[in-house]
Amino acid sequence: MPKKIRIAGRTSPLAIAQVREMMSLLPDVEYEFVPVESYGDKHKEISLLDNAMEDIFTRELDDAVLRGDADCAIHSAKDLPYPLRDKISIAAVTKSADATDSLVSRDGATLAELPEGAVVGLSSPLRREQIIAARPDINILSIRGNIQERIEYINRGDADAVIVASIAMKRLGLADRIAEILPFGTNPLQGCLAVTVRTDRPAVRKLFYPLDYRRFYGRVILMGAGPSAPDLLTLRAANILKIADIIFYDDLMDESVLDPYDCEKTYVGKRKNLHSVEQEKINEMLYLSAMDGKTVVRLKGGDPSVYGRSGEEAEYLARRLIPVEIVPGVTSALAAAADSGIPLTMREVSSGVRFAAGHGKDAFSGTPGRGTLVYYMAASVLPDLSAYLIGEGYPLKTPAAIVRNAGSVLEETSVTDIEGLRTAETSPPAIIIIGDTVSHALRQPKFLFTGLEISRYSVRLPGRMVHYPLIRTEEILVPPAIEINRYDAVIFTSKTAVRIFFRKYQIFGQKVFAIGPATAEELRRQGIGNAIVQSKHHSAALAEVIGEYGIERALYPCSEQSDNPLHRIPQVETVVLYRTSDRSQPKIELSKFEGIIFTSPSTVTSFKRLYGNFPENLLYYCIGPVTAGILAEYGIEQEIIIDVSEIP
Ligand code: SAH
Repeated sequence: MPKKIRIAGRTSPLAIAQVREMMSLLPDVEYEFVPVESYGDKHKEISLLDNAMEDIFTRELDDAVLRGDADCAIHSAKDLPYPLRDKISIAAVTKSADATDSLVSRDGATLAELPEGAVVGLSSPLRREQIIAARPDINILSIRGNIQERIEYINRGDADAVIVASIAMKRLGLADRIAEILPFGTNPLQGCLAVTVRTDRPAVRKLFYPLDYRRFYGRVILMGAGPSAPDLLTLRAANILKIADIIFYDDLMDESVLDPYDCEKTYVGKRKNLHSVEQEKINEMLYLSAMDGKTVVRLKGGDPSVYGRSGEEAEYLARRLIPVEIVPGVTSALAAAADSGIPLTMREVSSGVRFAAGHGKDAFSGTPGRGTLVYYMAASVLPDLSAYLIGEGYPLKTPAAIVRNAGSVLEETSVTDIEGLRTAETSPPAIIIIGDTVSHALRQPKFLFTGLEISRYSVRLPGRMVHYPLIRTEEILVPPAIEINRYDAVIFTSKTAVRIFFRKYQIFGQKVFAIGPATAEELRRQGIGNAIVQSKHHSAALAEVIGEYGIERALYPCSEQSDNPLHRIPQVETVVLYRTSDRSQPKIELSKFEGIIFTSPSTVTSFKRLYGNFPENLLYYCIGPVTAGILAEYGIEQEIIIDVSEIP
């Protein structure tokens, strides 16, 4: 590291003032100023109102840094190109001293006071729009040059007023020439200075760290929620959601994904033809929250980089120097493939897959070729898709599948071919899969599982289990005081009871009885390895066993709805720890299922409330005679009820 660091800066008085101002904050650092003329300074004839090159004011300075003629360069942060040059890093961005623009005019007239048809000189396309919106009669003049040169336009009579950055006027001691601070939003980096260095010069980067205001910025995580089945959210996503300060979410199909997180949540979805928040507005909200120091999650259905605008949002934020991370999600094409059992690639059938859109400026285009095609956003244009593929020479009989609501219990798949797509009907959200792999779809029976998540595979049936929980458990808020030493045994008949009990109480040498392997497993997890396990789902059998052990007083923690022979044994005292209640679920088409599994009486009553009756062409599975009894009470014939606990 040289004793004096060499700082490249532009040659205008303003640029020199900027360097002096920044280095005054680092009084112990000795420096030498290396003046460099930028392309933009040399070519004042180039208008900035047209698409000027992005690094017009920075290229030559960063060249000097890369060559080693300077150790760093100081720029106006808003002049930095995006992305930055290779091997160049930003060492610091200062806090903006003043981000406003000012009007400087002859005789100090404000924008409103300027005469009809007045000429206003400026050099930003955004400012041109804003001025014309406020005063349509104004004539715009594209101007260039440093502050003094801009003010000269007025003195020469070429313009009645010019627009300049307020901070520049202040830095040059010209604040008294300001006629009006303009109310318009400006470039977010206006008034910030940025130091660029060679990435491979860590010592120079360290030098400027104290000035780096970016350490107060938050960050934005562009995150995929999957197709919004709460259990298709990735672990990484869940971990980040736990630390989020604010979540901006879209049209997730299942908002319960967000229930566990109690930070601020803002809906910014764009339901077609409904309320919509403009993309520009969303970008701005993300930016402002991050500038506020927040950890901001932008949560999208599926994956953020598949028709999820991650590109636009990431660039918007990165241009404003906000750190951005992208967390992937399960894109709906993959959920659709899984639910329909259609392989997207398959040896000797299809060696590739292509995602395409059925909506937008270049819908469909560029998709044909070999391999599987997957269309997003095509539900409402199936006839057009059919016509397009036929036009591209696809055989009419190429198989096609329409997968609606992939990932959720409402999933429905129908299979047709390209010709059939012309008359097929569906509604969003749907994924269309086209290609020969469609005819290799996995076919197997489906069963509806109505119990809580936790016991998903406790009943082994030959096919796919669709989880459709009809109940939820609620803990009793104020648990009763229990004098555990009054009992010589504790009985558990459900996992939930075990979990809640051991969160609140302890046992001291009492015998533990359990019904069912799942309950025993949960006990082991709680450190109780010596429970006496009754494998049958029979409370009656357990009642006998308790007698055999000579138990005098047993505690039975259970749910409010619990009703079985245990309650009628004189030695057993019940304590209610939780209750089960109905869980609201959409009604689904039951004809695609071969059977329904009920895990408890409350799942049966909840079903009855939702559907009114029990279709006759299904097989009803249940666990234990109490649940079987309720099914029978609702009029279901014994011939179509299987109590799986009865059959070894
Ligand atoms: N980023 C999302 C896609 C957004 S575009 C993702 O990765 O999945 C919206 C389109 O996604 C819809 O028009 C539909 O084609 C598809 N889509 C989203 N959710 C879906 C679902 N549950 N089932 C089928 N298609 C879905």
